[in-house]
Amino acid sequence: MFQKKPGSWECDACLVRNQPDVAKCVSCGTLKPGEQTPNKGQKSKESAKSSDLKPLSEMFQKKPGTWECDACLVRNQPDVVKCVSCGTLKAGASGQ
Ligand SMILES: [Zn+2]
Ligand SMILES: [Zn+2]
Repeated sequence: MFQKKPGSWECDACLVRNQPDVAKCVSCGTLKPGEQTPNKGQKSKESAKSSDLKPLSEMFQKKPGTWECDACLVRNQPDVVKCVSCGTLKAGASGQ
């Protein structure tokens, strides 16, 4: 009963175990490892597409100008002068 089915696979993203006959994780929709999307047949196109993908390290970099709320430590965008979470004025902002 508790044996793994042959061909079942584990989602890279959420570690849910999926049935052999599904190509996407039932939980989060992540594509099965090694599964190819139908519209990605040509390997020659991959070099041109690679510029779309940012490395993970870049995605987690702080944006220049973002600021951290003194009160709740939420990180806010450069273009807001009040914390989106608690409304505390940005340190150094005049308030206008
Ligand atoms: Zn998943
Ligand atoms: Zn705050």
